[in-house]
Amino acid sequence: MLQSKLFTKTKKEAPKDEVSKNAKLLIRGGFVHKEMAGVYSYLPLGLRVLKKIENVIREEMDAVGGQELHMSVLQEKSLWEKSGRWNDEVVDNWFKTDLKNGTEVGLGSTHEEPLSNILKDHISSYKELPVYPYQIQVKFRNEARAKSGLMRGREFLMKDMYSFCKSEEEQHEFYEKSKKAYTKIFERVGLGDKTYMTFASGGTYSKYSHEFQTLTEAGEDTIYLDESSGLALNKELLDEKENLEEFKGKDLVEHKSAEVGNIFNLGTKFSEAEGFFYLDENGEKQKVWMGSYGIGLGRVMATIAEVFADENGLVWPEAVAPYKFHIVALDVKNEEVRKTADEIHRMMERSNIEVLYDDRDLSAGEKFAESDLLGIPYRIVISENNLKEGVLEIKSRKDGEIKKIEKEKILKSLLESDS
Ligand code: ATP
Ligand code: MG
Repeated sequence: MLQSKLFTKTKKEAPKDEVSKNAKLLIRGGFVHKEMAGVYSYLPLGLRVLKKIENVIREEMDAVGGQELHMSVLQEKSLWEKSGRWNDEVVDNWFKTDLKNGTEVGLGSTHEEPLSNILKDHISSYKELPVYPYQIQVKFRNEARAKSGLMRGREFLMKDMYSFCKSEEEQHEFYEKSKKAYTKIFERVGLGDKTYMTFASGGTYSKYSHEFQTLTEAGEDTIYLDESSGLALNKELLDEKENLEEFKGKDLVEHKSAEVGNIFNLGTKFSEAEGFFYLDENGEKQKVWMGSYGIGLGRVMATIAEVFADENGLVWPEAVAPYKFHIVALDVKNEEVRKTADEIHRMMERSNIEVLYDDRDLSAGEKFAESDLLGIPYRIVISENNLKEGVLEIKSRKDGEIKKIEKEKILKSLLESDS
């Protein structure tokens, strides 16, 4: 991709009303556009990051037997009345609106009710359970505070998976599996070292749920971490500490953190409310046991931005970077520089190596500052001086390490590092 053709531009300043580091950097880098508080549009660079996160999540959900679907945002009131969640006193962040004929509808903030209703239409026998449908879809929540940038949106993308099982035992088995899948996801996107499975309150059915909390000062949560086991406790449960086997007598360390995902046992509350039952081997009607498993994609992206950024800008882990390489050609008016950079760019694209090529006629200082802000993992510097020595420089964004590689060997070396 030629940077001269990219319609987004970097900015020296973020909007005055933006207070969070993640949004400031992502706006300045041209990854997102702020529409209003808690509402962001993803621009080409931001969408590339988002898609990478999405693909990691999708692969791990498919690996545990997930089946992807895509549900509507507009929600029928009656389904939510059955579970008691239409009431604004029960769910205080609904966006509701009216159809032209006066019918009231809601904009989905989660999907237990409509999904149970869909499954009821397709599943009736024990032979057809368990199932694990999931979607990666937009949610609407009229959040009271939206000061954490992409971490707390009023419109945001969520991966929500739901399990539908024949028994409580079958549900708990899948719940344990989902913990492993979540651990893998956060490792793969680069947050593994800082993300801890955290006991949190469980809602109506179960005493506890589990949150995946990433340590960051930008987070809205407080957790207590047992460094020896790597398990943590949400602050709201601190009084429970001595009742929990895992934490009894342990010294816990307080941290600020962001909830990047969570998993819940839901019992039979929603399936029962929607009238979704199955017939067992004896033809007897049985309840369906549910769980829910959420991850906020924008929140994951924002958390990655917060955790890795330095004073010069974003620092993307390779797995989610918009491009892996950033060719920065200095002095593009010099014919040899231009020719070499064009050729390397062409070779890389032909070999399907993800690369952004800064082919613009700007000063080295400007180019480097922008490259730092964008946070692409490896910068390939092509300059007159380097070419005199017959080499190119590759600089790692993360640690600043510089390697010189012979010009003739560049493609081979890049292909090796890409595999
Ligand atoms: P929180 O406690 O942060 O308000 P929640 O417990 O209500 O979130 P769920 O409804 O279970 O979260 O949503 C699942 C996941 O979706 C969360 O773990 C989080 O990653 C993400 N998420 C929730 N609310 C938002 C939001 N307003 N903006 C972005 N991501 C969100
Ligand atoms: Mg929560």
